[in-house]
Amino acid sequence: MPREALTGWKIARIFGIPIEISPSWIVIFLLIFWSLGAAVFPALAPIPDLPSWPMAAVATVLFFACLIAHELSHSLVSRHYGLQVRRIVLFLFGGVSESHEEMPSAVAEFWIALAGPASSLLLAVLFYGIGLATTGYLPATIVARWMGLINLALAAFNLLPGFPLDGGRIFRAVLWAWRKNYIEATRWASWGGEAIAVLLGLWGVVAALAFGDWFSMIWLGLLAVLLYGAAEASYRQAFVLTALRRVLVKDLMRRDLHPVHDSQTIPEAVSEVLAHYPEPAVPVTTDEESLVGILTAESLEQVPRRLWPRLRVTELMKPLSEAEVVHPTTPAIDALKQMQASGVDPLPVVDEHRLVGVVGEGDLQRYLRWHPAVLHHHERFGPPL
Ligand SMILES: [Zn+2]
Repeated sequence: MPREALTGWKIARIFGIPIEISPSWIVIFLLIFWSLGAAVFPALAPIPDLPSWPMAAVATVLFFACLIAHELSHSLVSRHYGLQVRRIVLFLFGGVSESHEEMPSAVAEFWIALAGPASSLLLAVLFYGIGLATTGYLPATIVARWMGLINLALAAFNLLPGFPLDGGRIFRAVLWAWRKNYIEATRWASWGGEAIAVLLGLWGVVAALAFGDWFSMIWLGLLAVLLYGAAEASYRQAFVLTALRRVLVKDLMRRDLHPVHDSQTIPEAVSEVLAHYPEPAVPVTTDEESLVGILTAESLEQVPRRLWPRLRVTELMKPLSEAEVVHPTTPAIDALKQMQASGVDPLPVVDEHRLVGVVGEGDLQRYLRWHPAVLHHHERFGPPL
């Protein structure tokens, strides 16, 4: 699923992993509660006095717990392989266990991906057993049966062989181990995800045209669009990560520098540098080209313009001790991660206190677009960017 876009409210911490819910999850929570209480449970047991609303409340909370259990299984196996899990987020279409690290191996990816559906399958069996054990009390049996079914459905859907579903990850891991080519394996798994998205969309159209089920069409349509986008994005991400791991900052940094001077006032810096070379962040240097800090457009905008004439660059800049910088021999992939984590773009490139270049996401993209390996790749797989 697309990652950075999700924002959530933190509701708990389990095994040290923050659990967050996105506002869109509230929609699905209420929808499940309402459809179970109003339609599903009354239809499953058409008897008078069925406490369908309390049953719906219990089932909705249990479903929520099952989703967390599914994601936690991924997280715990990730940890076993030494990956850090940042958080678990539940959103409109389920959950995601977030880690910003790359898969260390096909074997790790295989087991991490399998853990989620496996836990859902286990839960399905457990609830089926509870259903058998509670035959004396109909409401409990019905809730347990439904929980069994929904966990089974969750496992089955997630096992579909398309990225970024768990099944797609398993598919990629197997291809990766077999063909020893991570990018190619990701391309196939992403195509799987796109194919599944198209099928889901078609199913939605059929549901609407043949059965007048417009609700399913909207739901499946949304899911299809999201899945398609995520499949594309996953491939792009894998491609970029692989290409940038092989290249160093010095190979793609810009050397035509337009630093601000540490003796300048803010209006001087604006009229002499920033007005001609607008960048979100500019390096501040001394006469000897030593980097002393970073001036960001953001920090400028926070100060009312009438105060600018009184301020020197050094008063508004972030000093070097707090600034994000990279070394010429830093791998480009690490520079990208640093940019994304800090929000500083471009990053100054510093060699023994001397400013030797700047590198931003735009430079990485330019590099990726014109790199021979990429051009070769286009011929085989189509453009990645
Ligand atoms: Zn999963």
